[in-house]
This record gives sequence, structure tokens and C-alpha cells, in this order.
Amino acid sequence: MPIILNEKHSTGLSMNWTVDKVLYHQKSDFQEVAILELQELGRALALDGAIQVTVKDEFVYNEMITHVPLFTHPNPEKVLIIGGGDGGAAREAAKHPKVKQVDMCEIDPVVIEACREYLPEMSVSYDNPKVNVITKDGIAFIKNNPNTYDVIIIDSSDPVGPAVELFQKQFYTDVRGALKEDGLFVCQSESLFLHMQLIKDVYTSISSLFPVARVYTSTNATYPGFLWSYTMGSKKYDPLEKGELEPQTFQTKYYNHDLFKASFALPNFLKEELEQK
Ligand code: SAM
Repeated sequence: MPIILNEKHSTGLSMNWTVDKVLYHQKSDFQEVAILELQELGRALALDGAIQVTVKDEFVYNEMITHVPLFTHPNPEKVLIIGGGDGGAAREAAKHPKVKQVDMCEIDPVVIEACREYLPEMSVSYDNPKVNVITKDGIAFIKNNPNTYDVIIIDSSDPVGPAVELFQKQFYTDVRGALKEDGLFVCQSESLFLHMQLIKDVYTSISSLFPVARVYTSTNATYPGFLWSYTMGSKKYDPLEKGELEPQTFQTKYYNHDLFKASFALPNFLKEELEQK
């Protein structure tokens, strides 16, 4: 008998998922961790009842949150991922020939354990020699690594629980301190249709801290509101001023260089909101 998971996103909007099987379920020190077999999108990681990634469309988000910043920076040798415990972003970052080291700082070891066992499509990255899996709070970790990284990727859950501070100006200030003098970072900044005020707040914070601030988008089936945003802060390189991009020497299922450029073409309703800083 399938279970129905009701994923509530606001008072007026929920997503109902038909769950064929609960493959893993454990309460960690930070959240409730579950691996579910969803009838529509396959195996998925859920944290406190919110679907984080599904095997059916994870590649869209994991490719876009990594390859756009990694092709913007000319020499992304040292990469830090905050969050990203499923391993999908680390899998993609490790594909880049110029990337020598990927530090993945995930706060919850139970997420690592669950994904290692049930989401090998993504957790395969844990065994990549370039990848270091660190189980620490990214908020503290970032403060202790000044001037260290070329690219930082904030692949966080929604702004709830341990992730709340990952959307605040103080954290972005600390990210700036952890970046090298020509470094850049990207954070997932939620849905255009459900979280516009948050997108504006994040963009305003990042614009006040970095000379280059850009928003780009992609769509997917898993996240509520479907049109998803990523916000970039860069000390030097502007993705909109990149001429010829480095050739892509590895396989992707969604990302390509046409999408690199197209993803920064913003709908008017978002442009107007961002201009009204
Ligand atoms: N791609 C997914 C999305 O956009 O919702 C999220 C990927 S991953 C599952 C998000 C991870 O961020 C979770 O595993 C969570 O434990 C982790 N996380 C939340 N707050 C954190 C913090 N302060 N430091 C490090 N990791 C954190």
C-alpha cells in the first residue's frame, strides 16, 4: 500500500509524492533523514520531509550549480562545496580536468551514510581521489579557511534548520574571506515563483559584497515552483563577459555551453525585481 508524502511549501501549496517504499529512515542530530522510492521520480533523499534530490532529474541541478561557476573561473583548482551531501555536485565538479581538489563540507554524517548506501549514482563521488568528504558545519568551516578556494558552491537545503544561516549576509561575507583574490561562488537561491523575496535579499547581500553578482536559472521536476535560481558572487570574473568558454571535455546530461549563456537570460519579472534593489 503506497504512502503519500505531503511536502508542504507554503500555507497554500503542497506537493504530494506517492512513496512506494521507505528504504532508509533515521533521525540524526540535525534532521530526519529518509531515502524513499518515489513512484514518479525514483529514489530520493528527503530531509525533514522535503525532497532534496531524485535520481530522475538530479543531474539538472547538480550540473548547473557546478559547471556554470567552474567554466566561469579560468583555473578552478580548489573547490569547496558546502552541503551537497548526496554527492551529486562533487561528482560533477570532479569531472573538470582543472579541478585538483573538491572539499565537500556536509554537516550531517547520517546523510552521507544514507546516500552512500542508497544513492550510488551521486555518492560515487565520495570515492573520487579528488574529493574530500568533511562532516562539519559549513558556517564554522568557512571561517577557518581564509583565502583558500577558487570556487565555492553552496549546495544547501532550504533555509530551515542547519541551513538558515547559509542564506545570510554574514555567511556570504565569510565565503568572500575563504575565496582567493579572484575567486567566485554560487548558491542555490530557491524558486522564482515561491521565494522571490529571498532571491532579492540574497542578491542584495551578494551585490553589496562582490563586484560581480549574477542570477541564473534552470527548471526541474523535483523542486516546488519548478523555475529555480542560482546566485553568483564573483571577485573578478563575470560570466556575462566570458568570450569563448574552455572546451567541455566530459559528458553531461543537461549542461552545455549554450545553456551556460542562456541560463543568465532572465525573465522580465525577475529582472524588474532585482533592479528594484
Ligand atoms: N540539491 C538539494 C537542494 O537544492 O535542496 C540539496 C543538496 S544536499 C542534500 C543539502 C545538504 O545541506 C543537506 O545534506 C544538509 O545536511 C546540508 N546542510 C544544511 N546546513 C548545513 C550546514 N550549515 N553546513 C553543512 N551542510 C549543511
